Amino acid sequence: MTQTLPKPPDADPAWAWFLDLDGTLIDIAPTPSAVTVPEPLPHLLTRLSQCHDGALAVVSGRSLENLRLLLTPFDPPAAGLHGLECRDASGGVVRLAPPPGLDDIRTRLARAVEDAPGLLLEDKGLALALHFRQAPEREESARRAVVAALGDNPGFAMLAGKMVFEVKPAGVDKGSAVRSFMTKPPFSGRRPVFVGDDVTDEYGFRAANELGGLSVLVGQPRETAAMFHLDDIEACRGWLARAAGTEWNAKTGEGAD
Ligand SMILES: [Mg+2]
Repeated sequence: MTQTLPKPPDADPAWAWFLDLDGTLIDIAPTPSAVTVPEPLPHLLTRLSQCHDGALAVVSGRSLENLRLLLTPFDPPAAGLHGLECRDASGGVVRLAPPPGLDDIRTRLARAVEDAPGLLLEDKGLALALHFRQAPEREESARRAVVAALGDNPGFAMLAGKMVFEVKPAGVDKGSAVRSFMTKPPFSGRRPVFVGDDVTDEYGFRAANELGGLSVLVGQPRETAAMFHLDDIEACRGWLARAAGTEWNAKTGEGAD
């Protein structure tokens, strides 16, 4: 049963922020490349980061490069590809090498997509994503295609997200990214707060909870490890703006001032 969760409390200067992007801060689009970032958002995140001594990381399924392009001029510490690549506060990037077999999986999925209009295979380099947002009736065949493509390779895992099945090296997730950030400045010694919307964010919620922090689910209520809930992206932006000592106003583009 889905429990009713309270709204998150007002922010504390001692928090460290871990923010998912799609479905949490920006609207999900028909394809990953079709999203739009409201102009005030990078400024709001910059301001929120400054209020917390730089302890703000974006934790996303997108690649680091993609995050940088979307959020420019804000270029925060970030975990891309669900934690497979991380950029720390000093700009150093760590990329995990994928286990063997990714090329075979990619080839098999590319073949499956050819036979199924509406499925979109996104190649993220170290990970793959099979999207069925444009053909929701293909969810089961997409799932079967991924399971078949993975075969018995223990090095990879399937991650079911919103209208997408992701393939990524096993054992790395948004939770491991949070734990890694929390060992280093400016995050260490702070209280982690993970904010996300998707099933893949549950790893981040659990890590934040276990580290004595807070977790906030954005959007549709569901069974979750999150402690708090915000109704939608607008509510999330408003809460973050208050935490940054400002107000969110997407219409005027003056959210950060
Ligand atoms: Mg999301």
